[in-house]
Amino acid sequence: MSATQRSLNDYDQFGPSKVVQLFDPHSGLRGIVVIDNVACGPAIGGVRMAVDVSTDEVFRLARAMTLKNAAAGLAHGGGKAGIVADPKAADKPTLIRAFARAIRSLDEYIPGPDMGTDERCMATIYDEIDRAVGLPRVLGGIPLDEIGATGFGLAEAAEVAGEFCGVSLRGARVAIEGFGNVGRHAARFLAERGALLVAASDTGGAIYNRNGIDVARLSEEKQRTGSVASAAFGQTLSPAELFGLDCDILIPAARPDCIHRDNATAIKARLILQGANIPATAEAESMLHERGVCVVPDFIANAGGVICAAVEYHGGTQEQAVARIAEQIRCNTREVLRRSRDERLTPRAAAVELATERVAAAMRYRGRS
Ligand code: NAD
Repeated sequence: MSATQRSLNDYDQFGPSKVVQLFDPHSGLRGIVVIDNVACGPAIGGVRMAVDVSTDEVFRLARAMTLKNAAAGLAHGGGKAGIVADPKAADKPTLIRAFARAIRSLDEYIPGPDMGTDERCMATIYDEIDRAVGLPRVLGGIPLDEIGATGFGLAEAAEVAGEFCGVSLRGARVAIEGFGNVGRHAARFLAERGALLVAASDTGGAIYNRNGIDVARLSEEKQRTGSVASAAFGQTLSPAELFGLDCDILIPAARPDCIHRDNATAIKARLILQGANIPATAEAESMLHERGVCVVPDFIANAGGVICAAVEYHGGTQEQAVARIAEQIRCNTREVLRRSRDERLTPRAAAVELATERVAAAMRYRGRS
């Protein structure tokens, strides 16, 4: 079992330090905050709004943030929050404000955007409690989804990982599951480096064209119609078929656990960059490793967003954020894949080793070990 696949019953020496259930009968707010580990500094982590968000899910994500922030060398621990509600519901602004009031005293947790929340929500939270990241530009924010911070980091990881598995970006065929904020920017930055987008998917379907798909035109199509699945770009497929397509690089950038024992053997890509959080089961990751597929784990590959958020929190500029993302993700990808090769570990085991060493060192300095 990997550290990010634990459940709340599997607490360990790193955390969680606080699990808080929120309930406000006046607004109808129901929520959860998990502050996992704050040895490196106050926890940064997103606020997920979904009807089915659970305490276990928030804990898994909080632990992933502890590892991601430590691996990224940020002076921040890991935490996460969930609001149990439909993000499309009319009372969303009321719930967000109630959430902000409810977490006022949890000052070792700095909220950021996640599924179902955005910069507008962060502005409301900031208005109430003076701490949030992922703010609109006019409030000092660096718009990480607009600039494609996470997709940029994935392209940086791809360049370094390619050296370990013999995939040169020039001419590499790329398939992307989930052509959203992460996926479409990853496609754009990879295409700028000479790669060829051959497949993309979203909830509406998938598209495949072995001769390549124009990323800008596909983004416009998605913007205009809500989906990439248009026959104008090539062959239309079901989203599930994308995983077995002939390609060099596969980027899961949508939901958890989409790579599992039943589709792991069909994957033809030589390099997988995990854009989404926990997109593969532990079993599937082991199967891929045994087959020699190089996997750059989520909290190494997709750290661009949180690095950007941390630079914003400390008053840095967009240029500084971009430079930090490139430097840190390149360095971590190299170190994780080197350890994986030399110590015969899966890349995830190597990444967890790297991150937990840093958390443990911070805990020792603070006398908390
Ligand atoms: P998004 O909502 O902008 O995009 C997600 C895309 O995935 C959408 O196009 C959606 O249609 C598609 N999708 C959903 N379910 C699908 C399915 N079953 N098959 C194929 N496509 C599907 O979200 P995002 O911000 O791009 O985030 C994607 C993932 O990356 C999430 O797991 C998120 O937690 C993670 N992540 C995001 C960031 C960030 O900076 N936005 C940073 C780190 C990790």
